[in-house]
Amino acid sequence: MQQLPMTAAKKTVVVWSEGTAPAVIYPNDINAAIADGLRESAAMTIWDVVLANLTDPEQGLPDHLLAKADVLVWWGHERHAEVSDELAARIAKRVRAEGMGFIALHSAHFSKPNRLLMGTPCSFAAYVCDNRETVIRVSEAGHPIATGVASEFTIGNEERYSDPYAVPPAAATPFCGTHVHQDGTREESIQGYCWTVGQGNYFYFQAGHETSPIYFHPEVRKILANAVNWAVKH
Ligand code: ZN
Repeated sequence: MQQLPMTAAKKTVVVWSEGTAPAVIYPNDINAAIADGLRESAAMTIWDVVLANLTDPEQGLPDHLLAKADVLVWWGHERHAEVSDELAARIAKRVRAEGMGFIALHSAHFSKPNRLLMGTPCSFAAYVCDNRETVIRVSEAGHPIATGVASEFTIGNEERYSDPYAVPPAAATPFCGTHVHQDGTREESIQGYCWTVGQGNYFYFQAGHETSPIYFHPEVRKILANAVNWAVKH
């Protein structure tokens, strides 16, 4: 007698970006690089990874897709204003009222969904494109998003943001970083923030400027796979 395969219910993570990353770094845009990293992760076997783009119909998130997304990953920079207020409101409702996980990356800090969810200006003290390196460190080793991540690693970082970040107090800050300026001075910053927003889990990761291949870095890929699994409603 043939055994019927068990059909475990798959989870869905949607990875959204706006199509402005330079093709020389991200030939298929940032969301495809992030999705490739998620798909190759052993932690992601129960997940369907779906790409969404600003230029897709309904800005990449028609109702049926947003309704089935367990986690939404968002990278945007230059085209925040083109995202409809109505879509941003639907995303915020999915997080707050229905527990969809949300992961905002780098310049998504000024995106409409991020600002709605945080309810604060979401500005940093400074933005400096100095093409230096940032050392990222795990600051809460027991945090699920830090599982298996190297305690310290270095990324090429075209652009740094300086603390403070104008957001509500975080429930956890599992990653921090040190940026060494050209004159040798060291600047410390928080790199990863966790909140609970209504019913939803929310993670923000600061590094990720589009002119550095940060989303190909194996440790960053581990962080994002862990973050997806952390953000899903349990
Ligand atoms: Zn940037």
